[in-house]
Parts: sequence; structure tokens; C-alpha cells
Amino acid sequence: MPDNGTAAALDSPEVRRYNRTRRWLGIAELLVGFALLLVLLITGWTDSLRDIAYGGASQSYALAVFLYMLMLLALSKMVGLGLDYYGFQLEHRYQLSNQKLGGWIWDEVKGFLLTAVLGSALVELLYFIIREFPEHWWVIAWAGFLGVAVLLAQLAPVVLFPIFYKFEPLQDEQLKKRLVWLSERAGTHIRGVYKWHLSEKSKKANAALTGLGNTRRIILADTLLDNYSPDEIEAVLAHELGHHVHKHILKSIGVQAAVTFVGFWAANWTLHYAINRWHIFETLSDFANLPLFVLTFTVLSFLLMPALNALSRFHERQADRYAFKNIADIVPFVSSMNKLADQNLAERQPSRWVEWWFHSHPAIARRVAAAQAWGKSNAG
Ligand SMILES: [Zn+2]
Repeated sequence: MPDNGTAAALDSPEVRRYNRTRRWLGIAELLVGFALLLVLLITGWTDSLRDIAYGGASQSYALAVFLYMLMLLALSKMVGLGLDYYGFQLEHRYQLSNQKLGGWIWDEVKGFLLTAVLGSALVELLYFIIREFPEHWWVIAWAGFLGVAVLLAQLAPVVLFPIFYKFEPLQDEQLKKRLVWLSERAGTHIRGVYKWHLSEKSKKANAALTGLGNTRRIILADTLLDNYSPDEIEAVLAHELGHHVHKHILKSIGVQAAVTFVGFWAANWTLHYAINRWHIFETLSDFANLPLFVLTFTVLSFLLMPALNALSRFHERQADRYAFKNIADIVPFVSSMNKLADQNLAERQPSRWVEWWFHSHPAIARRVAAAQAWGKSNAG
């Protein structure tokens, strides 16, 4: 593998600047969220919010939870809005976005409403379980959240994604034939391939495997379908099919289940510690402790980021190898990777630690090198 000496030649200063800025934006978003939760807890403002919620709810617990959650979400949106807008501008600065300001604001509104509906339903469920089962709440809540995660994974492509993007079944007969052929060779079958109208918002290209069971599908961005050769699109399809054949979505849910189990256990421990040692809350069911609950999960997911990304990169390498084996020629795979890197301003060769901590996909230079090595060893 070339090291940093040749990295400079692979990625232009512009590409490196764009990716560095995006990384810092992500870190800033995390820190702002983290700081907000800490401030609410340390200053006791979370108690004031709870009292306001109770006042507005005429002392109804469930309604108060809802109002508290709404205030918390509104607060975190206000605090994070500047960074959101910076992200919107950043894509424009690098000519990567087709989205107008009005469309962006509308997406922000829809995103907020969706978070409010889903978030408040989950928090209501959480505090209902805490009140009913104060001893074993964390195991029961974990099981409940797992069920919700599976349901959301299934509903995402038919209910959640269409809130933000248009999708339609792929019309291209040639491409459909290729997919059928690919999946027959794999001894599997995919319910559908959908065209994802990404170009209304972005100039970037993308593809993904989504859904569970009867909603399982491959989505291909129109920005990819319009600019890539049929052989290149087939290489991308073969990669996504690799995720399907290797059951990566199910495996990811399994890993999430393990992580959230630890998360709920840690949250139970932290909440008890806050009640018994710090005396900042009187009971578990005092929903003013929600910031501490969220904080526990935030810290855990930050600490586990390198491990989860390593697993994701392992899955990506598996899907790539699946593609190498099932396409006639490695050349279109390599050219599709290079096109994706150019179109998305992706770093071909990020530094080792950046890849290790932040990247869910192996660096493009590595994926291309693996493809070429595979091509060589299987030539003739
Ligand atoms: Zn992939």
C-alpha cells in the first residue's frame, strides 16, 4: 500500500480540505450535543424544564414527558442549527449540492417533525417501562427498542426515505436483466431495484441495500444511473448484492443489539449512581434525567465508533470480493470507484488514523488495489 508520501499525489488539496472540514463539522456537532446535555445536567436547567412541562401538562405524567421531550428537541435544534446551515453551505461551496435554501429549510422542518414524533413515542415508552418495571426496566426497554429497530429497518425504504426523496422502480430492461442474472447466479433474489432521485438535492452518486424481508431492495441514485456505463452499474449492483448475500443488514442489527444491551445496562448504572451518590435526581422515573440517559449512549457510541467502523469496513471488503467474483471483468469496478471518488470528492487515501476512526468504507485506493490484485491473480 502506498503510504502518506504518495497520498498527496492521489488527493488534491481541495479534496483534502473538503473532507477535513466535513470531519471537523461532524466532531463539532458531537461536541455541541455533548455540551448541551452536560449544561442541562450541571446547571439543573433540566429540572426547570421538567417543572415547566408539568405545569403545562396539568400534572399529567405522560403529557409532561411529551412536553419535556419537545422542549429538549427544540433546544437542541436551536443550538445545532448554525452547524446544520454550515453543512448546507459547505456542499454548495464545493459544487456538490443542487438544493435550494427553501428546499433545505423544508427538509429541516420535516426532519424535526419526524424526530419529534419518533423520539417522543420512544421516550414515552421508555418512561412507561421505567415506571412499571423499576427493577428490570433496562432489559425490558432494550428488548422493546430492539423490536422498534427491526421495525424501522423494515419500514425505512417504504415510509422514512420517501419523506425526503422520490423513488421509482428501475425501468431499464437491460439493467434489470443483468440483475436477475446476477442474483440467479447467487441463488438469491431481490424484490426490487429502485431509482433514487438524488439529483434534486445532490450532485453526489450513491447506491445502497436497504430494508428487511419484503421491503429488501437495492436503491441506485439517478446521478449514478445517468453517468455510469452499464458495466459500471453492474459492478455497483454486484457489490450491493454482496451485502444481501452476506446478510449484512441482519448482522448489523445483531451488533446493534449487543451494543444497546451494554448501553441500557450502563444507563441503568449511571442513573442509579446519579440518584444514590450525586443526589441530583430523586427517582428513576424523574424524566429530567433523560439528558443523562442520552449522554451515556452518546459516550458509548463515540467510544465504539472505531470498532463499528472496522466491522463496516470488513463488510464492505466482503461485498467487494463478492462483486469481483461475479462480474466478468474487474475494469468497470475500478472505473466506477474512480468515478465515485471524483464525483463525491472522496479521499482516495486518507491518513491511517482518519480511516480507522471515521470511515465506514475502506479507502478507495485500497478498494482499487484489492480489485486489481484480484484481477491479476485470476487473469486467464
Ligand atoms: Zn457497500
